[in-house]
Amino acid sequence: MNEQQGFVIWMTGLSGAGKTTIALEMLRQLDGRNLKLERLDGDVVRESLTADLGFSAEDRRKNIERITFVAKLLSRNGVGCVCSFISPYQAVRDHVRENTTNFMEVFVDAPLEVVIDRDVKGLYEKALAGEIPNFTGISDPFEAPQNPDIHLHTDQETVEESARIIIDELERRGLIPVVELA
Ligand code: ADP
Repeated sequence: MNEQQGFVIWMTGLSGAGKTTIALEMLRQLDGRNLKLERLDGDVVRESLTADLGFSAEDRRKNIERITFVAKLLSRNGVGCVCSFISPYQAVRDHVRENTTNFMEVFVDAPLEVVIDRDVKGLYEKALAGEIPNFTGISDPFEAPQNPDIHLHTDQETVEESARIIIDELERRGLIPVVELA
């Protein structure tokens, strides 16, 4: 059997768009395929690797720089990285693409009013009240990907469908073996 190729699934989108939920569902669907996968998630990384950083433009840059370093090492050594980060700037996402192996930009898209309505973590209410500075989509910009490898619409697809779209594309690109459905 051929050795597994590394890759980077980079999910970008507003807070509450569904990045973490879809990453977990993807891993659930891929369970049992004997693939080397690692999940790098904004909330988790910010409690460990980058616990010292905030949300200013400079700290966001450092946050992604350290994550890029980890994704670079993993992806060039045959590990598939499933990364969920708001990562609002196109130039930063392009930088990750240039520095990692088999990078795929996945735009996890949902309209602002939908994510405000979901308000999973109660953050939009606070941000709209002016209690959180530099909040992406409210008081900080989000540069929508101009040319993403995959564009998900989580207000129109189920979590299972969104995850399946990514897996199909990984198979189509030959980055994971195709599994025939019984
Ligand atoms: P993010 O990681 O982008 O901040 P989360 O995954 O934490 O977002 O939260 C997304 C929320 O939206 C979850 O509560 C999830 O159940 C919900 N949701 C509803 N429909 C979808 C969908 N199609 N895809 C992903 N999440 C969805």
